[in-house]
Amino acid sequence: MGKLDGRVVIVTGAARGQGEQEARLFAAEGAAVLLGDVLDGQGEAVAKDLGGAARYVRLDVGRQEDWVAAVAAAKESFGRVDGLVNNAGILRFNELTATPLEEFEQVVRVNQVGAFLGIKHVAPELAAAGGGTIVNTSSYTGLTGMAYVGAYAATKAAIVGLTRVAALELAASGIRVNAMCPGAVDTPMASPGQVDPASLDDEAREAMAELYRKVVPLGRVGRPEEIARLALFLTSEDSSYITGQPFVIDGGWTAGVSLL
Ligand code: NAD
Repeated sequence: MGKLDGRVVIVTGAARGQGEQEARLFAAEGAAVLLGDVLDGQGEAVAKDLGGAARYVRLDVGRQEDWVAAVAAAKESFGRVDGLVNNAGILRFNELTATPLEEFEQVVRVNQVGAFLGIKHVAPELAAAGGGTIVNTSSYTGLTGMAYVGAYAATKAAIVGLTRVAALELAASGIRVNAMCPGAVDTPMASPGQVDPASLDDEAREAMAELYRKVVPLGRVGRPEEIARLALFLTSEDSSYITGQPFVIDGGWTAGVSLL
């Protein structure tokens, strides 16, 4: 018995990183998974690897028409939808006063509008299926500040707000809505060397590891598989009495300050 037997879940940003691990774990737990992303080659490859209970569609989360098509594709392939993981996101480093308006709006479009559109278009399907779950991907920067990621942090705080309101409005339809707030996770977003090994030499890699050893109480960066397990918990019956909450998963980074 899998924890998601019979469930049909849309995962955005599923071509790599946390979304890929969520899609893989959900499929292993019995769910049919619709993977959405803008990296078509990688997304198709992950879906192919997962076999018949997975399908990839191009889903730019900031485009309403893509959501309409993705929901239709999920229903056509799997009959219904009863879960959503709003995972897709982008990160830009910049000082606030130096951030071009276009860059700020681009981050908002993907991270914040993307999550809003996901809730808007998928929640009615979950209600029609008799209930379901939505897991939004915020960040620890949605709960604390972090210099030089102002646009990103603003969208991640907005996702916590969206999560609470969606939980209140959708509870009567049997839909639970929660948010994950990961700390640093070892994916291409936080470790660009994964995409372009030449961009990080051994010294830079060791400097990153040393930084995490110092600032994260558990002494290391998180693994995408660990975030996927939280997404599974929030999507499965194991979290049946939980809704409207942000869950921090950061190795203790935001627990407080240690003087020693
Ligand atoms: P990642 O960059 O490896 O994966 C992000 C995925 O989203 C990619 O596959 C990318 O193609 C996809 N994507 C980007 N724009 C998209 C769009 N418009 N439509 C659809 N898909 C799009 O990074 P990740 O760490 O796996 O990120 C997953 C989520 O976790 C993001 O929301 C991110 O903000 C959040 N997060 C990451 C970290 C971290 O340290 N890696 C920490 C906290 C939160």
